[in-house]
Amino acid sequence: MFMLGYMQDWDLRVSHLIDYAAREHGNREILTRWADGSIERTNWAGVALEARKLAQVFARWGMKPGDRIATFAMNHHRHLAAWYGAIGCGGVIHTVNVRLFDEDLIYIMNHAEDRVLMYDAQFQPVIDRLKPHLKTVEHYIVFDSADSYGALMADADGQFDWVMGDERDPCMLCYTSGTTGHPKGVLYQHRSTMLHAMAEIAPSVFDLSCGSVLLPIVPMFHAASWGLPFAGAAAGVKFVFSTTNDAPTLHGLMLQEKVTHSAGVPTVWLAMFQHLDATAKAGRDASLGKLRLVTIGGSAAPRAMIERLMKQGVRVAHAWGMTETSPIGTMGSPTPDWDDLSIEAQIDIVCKQGRVPFGVELRIVDDEGTVLPRDGTSSGKLQVRGPWVVKRYFKAEADATDADQWFDTGDVSVIHPDGTMQITDRAKDVIKSGGEWISSVELENAAVGCPGVAEAAAIGVPHPKWDERPILLVVRKEGAALSEADVVAYLAGVVAKWWLPDEVLFVDSLPHTGTGKIQKAELRKQYKDYQLKALRAA
Ligand code: AMP
Repeated sequence: MFMLGYMQDWDLRVSHLIDYAAREHGNREILTRWADGSIERTNWAGVALEARKLAQVFARWGMKPGDRIATFAMNHHRHLAAWYGAIGCGGVIHTVNVRLFDEDLIYIMNHAEDRVLMYDAQFQPVIDRLKPHLKTVEHYIVFDSADSYGALMADADGQFDWVMGDERDPCMLCYTSGTTGHPKGVLYQHRSTMLHAMAEIAPSVFDLSCGSVLLPIVPMFHAASWGLPFAGAAAGVKFVFSTTNDAPTLHGLMLQEKVTHSAGVPTVWLAMFQHLDATAKAGRDASLGKLRLVTIGGSAAPRAMIERLMKQGVRVAHAWGMTETSPIGTMGSPTPDWDDLSIEAQIDIVCKQGRVPFGVELRIVDDEGTVLPRDGTSSGKLQVRGPWVVKRYFKAEADATDADQWFDTGDVSVIHPDGTMQITDRAKDVIKSGGEWISSVELENAAVGCPGVAEAAAIGVPHPKWDERPILLVVRKEGAALSEADVVAYLAGVVAKWWLPDEVLFVDSLPHTGTGKIQKAELRKQYKDYQLKALRAA
């Protein structure tokens, strides 16, 4: 006899999160520190009401289930309301990365077919440039404008029932440029987002509860701010948002708002340490207040950084993940014997990328696809699968996984016998600087457009502040008198400023594969420990 269980249907829809937070933690504060230094305070009930008002407006504008509503904004509570409003009207929130340059932005927004674009006033010049090229956007909303967002709020009463539906419906779209070719969209489901949010609050992951005061430094446009706007609702945290990420502002907020948890890429902590040193020298409060857990991810967290925080009494959790994994894949967090370990041994553990939470499966394979042992020495291509891992990129014709659902991350790692994963290399040909991707292929393509360049290869070299910076290896055309300044000046006209190579090195030739491709892996190996001139001087 076919039989179903006799429990209630409660689809894993994201709107349950905001309902829960508003109902059970309605008074829990959510605040935004705006760039002008002013602080605006609301709470979960306030954000939920704004979200309903927005959903009401979107429905009035004829948004249909699955329609994309984009944001181009920093972290603030209106941005948070926009997420829940867009998703609550049955739509898909598409968080556009403000650090990309025009060509990619135009591609991404047209590819996503965004119908609404909500942005911060500071980005008006960018939006003005993009507007003539955006084919599908019908409505533009400025978050920090009384005439725009303010008028919409005044025009709605929030009497709106969330659009419900299947838990496998899409709810969010995030693009990654961390692969070759055009940026690729990852289309999260309600179900994947909910499972991920529930997993994230666990002690071994972000360790969140209604007592937590969470300052996410990771932007809401980067891998969904690591899912924290969802997990934060599931836990009922107090959110502290800042639209600027300078160390004095963040430190001030940490002390003043009694921040307990923070999360961000390594780069932000280097600036913070400099600020703390200067603050201590000036005889002011250089403590980290109530801070007790800092999650660092997006790039490998350097040992010295982990050590400094841990010796100051702040536990560091080291996260590995990708936009394709919602993004939590692993977390370096306390082991069963944690309390018996010396601080040095604890730091050793956190330097590795950690273990999977329930819901994620990992394995490493060799070039032939043979699964390698978890012995802590065999190094292979890292593959991942689970309910919050991508199956197929948005609008792609084929799955991004193999027949058994394994997704190849492009990272190379070892797995230790206790399940701890440790990234050892990267197979994908990209450069990660300050937590954001620089496409080496695009940089190379741009460089060969420069008169006098015969061939060019861009690779990442280590940098203490940005983790990696690009250098460009250039073969001159015969007889060309080309200088480093010529190449940089040319590139400045075609790529974003932060993509410009830190150094251009002229070489006689580049190594090639049998099929004529530049052997990037070989070059990366050769320049693995290359020290930039500017750093050598310092
Ligand atoms: P993104 O999709 O932009 O979040 O980038 C994901 C990629 O960032 C991963 O595939 C890794 O290459 C890199 N990454 C993320 N976290 C870490 C980490 N903790 N250690 C080393 N690499 C990392």
